[in-house]
Amino acid sequence: MDPRVAIIEERLKSIKRIIAVAAGKGGVGKSTVAAGLALVLAEMGHRVGLLDLDFYGPSTHIILGVSQEIQPKEERGIVPPKVHGIEFMSLVYYTKDNPAPLRGSDLTNALTELLAITRWGELDFLIVDMPPGLGDTTLDAIRLLKNPSFLVVTTPSRVAAETVKKLLVLLEELRLPIVGILENMSRSRASGQLLPCTARLPFDEKLESALGDPERFLQTEFARALREIVRNTFRS
Ligand code: ADP
Ligand code: MG
Repeated sequence: MDPRVAIIEERLKSIKRIIAVAAGKGGVGKSTVAAGLALVLAEMGHRVGLLDLDFYGPSTHIILGVSQEIQPKEERGIVPPKVHGIEFMSLVYYTKDNPAPLRGSDLTNALTELLAITRWGELDFLIVDMPPGLGDTTLDAIRLLKNPSFLVVTTPSRVAAETVKKLLVLLEELRLPIVGILENMSRSRASGQLLPCTARLPFDEKLESALGDPERFLQTEFARALREIVRNTFRS
């Protein structure tokens, strides 16, 4: 037994809710939803953490505009720096712009280590940009995060829907709570739904130019729709 598992449990005790943002395939907007959700929740006054577990394609730091100078402090563990009011943790603090070519067991090790060293404050929400797909890393993350609630992201594309279907079956088999299934990049209200989506996020041309600029991001149609989803999903 890995002693770090017990440490992780202790580390996560100060967090009220863990929301794993997941998708079946890449490019559907998983990271944008994860970072946006963190920003919107923080704007509403919640204490929020954001954890990027997409080790191959970390991107929430780009959306938040985390500058290169920001480094976590070592203090009986690693304290995630606050970025726009969000406690933000990602492997990019250590890898910078270089690829992190991790193999199976190294990936599990990096994930375990990151969770074991990170000292979150008292949080209402920890939003996790989950590893893509249904591989070992996803299963490891689910195990180490102690069965988080899932927010699933898909698009109106059948290609996305087919892979998300598999994810939903897996989540059901593992009896993990699903707080929502979001149809992202939705272009019309009338689009024939391929999955039982609980809400839609519009395709937003302005999103690209708002990357790295949270103030601007929060003024987009996308953020507006996300606020509505938060109000309907996380009523306390
Ligand atoms: P994933 O994490 O699923 O791979 P990303 O969040 O990186 O996907 O999004 C992929 C690309 O799509 C990014 O360039 C992002 O800005 C863009 N994007 C995501 N959601 C939307 C949207 N609703 N409207 C327009 N562009 C979007
Ligand atoms: Mg991503």
